[in-house]
Amino acid sequence: MYCYKCKKKFYLKRGFLNLFDTKSKYICDKCLNEQPISLRFDEITLDVGIIKVVSLFDTIFKVDLKPYVLEINQIFNFFYKKYRDHSIVLLDHLALTYFNLELLSLWVEMFEKPLLIICGVLRK
Ligand SMILES: [Zn+2]
Repeated sequence: MYCYKCKKKFYLKRGFLNLFDTKSKYICDKCLNEQPISLRFDEITLDVGIIKVVSLFDTIFKVDLKPYVLEINQIFNFFYKKYRDHSIVLLDHLALTYFNLELLSLWVEMFEKPLLIICGVLRK
């Protein structure tokens, strides 16, 4: 397989039981260990309600999320099952500026649902 982060080839170990599995990975173990996903859950209180933010990485730098597609899929499915009444937004990164907070409060008012944001990096 081809790692989307370091652009090198890597191989998945296969045994007799999973010889014909079509499981694919987009990031090698070395890159995943260098920059692992560290989930953080924040709640932002606004005038119209509470916004829940799940950030995947604890860094100030922008992270390319393409290699982490499978992990993000699992995280999204987990939060989708847990917060079915929320409207869920998936973002690359989120900066908590005054303008963005106004937009988010407008979103909550418009859809009349609590908001859950899953983002790569949250900048405060
Ligand atoms: Zn890699």
